[in-house]
Amino acid sequence: MKLLVMAKSVLSNLFSRPVTERYPFVEKKYFVGTRGKVLIEIDKCIFCGLCQRKCPTAAIVVTKEQKGWEIDRLRCVSCNACVEICPKKCLVLDTKYAACSEKRYKDVFHA
Ligand code: SF4
Ligand code: SF4
Repeated sequence: MKLLVMAKSVLSNLFSRPVTERYPFVEKKYFVGTRGKVLIEIDKCIFCGLCQRKCPTAAIVVTKEQKGWEIDRLRCVSCNACVEICPKKCLVLDTKYAACSEKRYKDVFHA
């Protein structure tokens, strides 16, 4: 009996489409509400530093004098805290993740 069940399973897998996707050849579809990477509209930023102070992983560095905002993508855990605290609503969590990288890098923005 078990052999019959197994044979049925093997046959159905042989003739059905794979459940995996051919990434990166087929682009992944993200769900609404997926917490991906943090994006900034730098022109709206007032460099108040609230996002930096609220970030639990110290991923964000704000430099008021240079009007700079940077994020260490490897530190960010997509918790959304910076997005919620921003008074200018210039931060948003994208539904896509940051690109993979062999090296640690920061995304730097200037107004
Ligand atoms: S909280 Fe918003 S306005 Fe303030 S520094 Fe961060 S991104 Fe800019
Ligand atoms: S989403 Fe969370 S971990 Fe990522 S930068 Fe914002 S506060 Fe920091």
